[in-house]
Amino acid sequence: MELTIKQSLQKIVGPENFTDALIDMISYSSDASEHHHRPDAAVWVESVEQVSAILKLANEHKVPVIPRGAGTSLSGMAVPERGGIVLDMSPMNKILSVSIEDRLAVVQPGVVYDQLEKALAPYGFFFPPDPASGKVSTLGGNVATNAGGLKGAKYGTTSDYVLALKVVLADGSILRTGSKCMKSVSGYDFTKLFVGSEGTLGVVTEITLKVNPKPLATATCQATFDDLAQAGNAVSEIMRSGIIPRVLEFLDDQCILALNQSADLNLPEVAAMLLAETDGYTQEETEYQMAKVVKALKNNNAIAIARAASAEEAEELWKARKSIYAALTRLNYNITIEDVTVPISKVAQMLVGIKTISKRYNLPIPTVGHLGDGNLHPGISFDGTNPDEVERVEKVATDIFKLAIELGGTLTGEHGIGLGKAGYMSLEHDVQALRVMSNLKRMFDPNNILNPGKMGLEV
Ligand SMILES: Cc1cc2nc3c(=O)[nH]c(=O)nc-3n(C[C@H](O)[C@H](O)[C@H](O)COP(=O)(O)OP(=O)(O)OC[C@H]3O[C@@H](n4cnc5c(N)ncnc54)[C@H](O)[C@@H]3O)c2cc1C
Repeated sequence: MELTIKQSLQKIVGPENFTDALIDMISYSSDASEHHHRPDAAVWVESVEQVSAILKLANEHKVPVIPRGAGTSLSGMAVPERGGIVLDMSPMNKILSVSIEDRLAVVQPGVVYDQLEKALAPYGFFFPPDPASGKVSTLGGNVATNAGGLKGAKYGTTSDYVLALKVVLADGSILRTGSKCMKSVSGYDFTKLFVGSEGTLGVVTEITLKVNPKPLATATCQATFDDLAQAGNAVSEIMRSGIIPRVLEFLDDQCILALNQSADLNLPEVAAMLLAETDGYTQEETEYQMAKVVKALKNNNAIAIARAASAEEAEELWKARKSIYAALTRLNYNITIEDVTVPISKVAQMLVGIKTISKRYNLPIPTVGHLGDGNLHPGISFDGTNPDEVERVEKVATDIFKLAIELGGTLTGEHGIGLGKAGYMSLEHDVQALRVMSNLKRMFDPNNILNPGKMGLEV
């Protein structure tokens, strides 16, 4: 990095908030994916003014800028693929206001998801998206990735809760989007455009979120199936039964084997397991929903259905689901967790199709799913030191993406495009859509300094 740029950065953030030390560059070279590339420098930012001055400087010198929250991206989104400056947003971690009457929380982007949950709990409110990384991932990262979670079927994703943003654009100018109202149709919806844009259009420095009153009652059950398609069909029947469960999680036979090998759970070796949870403001309302779930499970030949009679029993039923990712990492040297979503009516076909792909390439693909919204995480387990297996992993991933698209699905339900799926964008989007996306990127960021190389935008 040119000395003048380094000196200017130090002047903007203070020398103590600037680093180009090798150890820091190595830390910032990766996220939770398999991608790596070192930046040239990193800065810890504390204010919108600093972000604005840095972007102005970077734009003038055409240096890449990579906004970063907690670095938990699973698709290489936070990796500085072309070097440049990492903008570490974590010091901007204040909850600026909570207004329960207005159902609003205004936060800085470095606030961790759980930090907001803790702040809302005394009011009996919550912020629903609930990504599994919520203990560490930041709200800025959640906005930039449109994070979702286990409760997505009922409560939607981050995008459903972002009302307004303050964003610094590539030239350093500051844009306000949206409003603090529950409804607004005033002008183009820039807020939605920035949500899920993976740091490629601007740097989010303030977020206004809608929050919800927290349900008071839950009911939990677990069911096993000896036929994969029947588990998928049970999901379809639950989703058309007139209720929406807040959780509808799925584990396949390979997941169950992995859990039995590494966790002391003694699970029955069946083809599939579903975990369902309903919620509401009274126990009666919650039980009404659970009765519909149980009926659909029975209609589709569940072998066994276990209902939790207490919070402790519910916790027991959750154990398999909560232990699964740790168990999967112990199956082989490497695991790549994919993330596709299909329409709910196609879940059964997708599950059966993944098994066919697994046989075709002779690689295990244990699959976890948030089936209430059709979101599947097929995990490709392999030995990264074996070139033949590595080559087959690519082919498996390609076939999974193609199948999801053929079934009317999408490349990613929550992990984003980043670097991992940039090369697959044309499978899902037609030439026109890709051209408009590239044009938008060029309009917001003519010098391509904001997180370049992500999302397959350079067409
Ligand atoms: C164990 C584990 C479980 C996970 N579970 C889920 C899950 O259930 N659901 C889910 O959706 N994801 C999940 N993820 C993925 C990841 O946690 C989410 O994508 C999360 O939203 C990323 O937040 P972060 O703060 O770590 O952002 P980072 O990884 O630091 O950044 C992600 C992207 O956001 C951009 N960005 C960050 N801050 C800003 C900002 N202020 N302005 C503009 N752009 C910004 C970055 O440039 C990058 O493109 C999981 C990851 C792990 C490791």
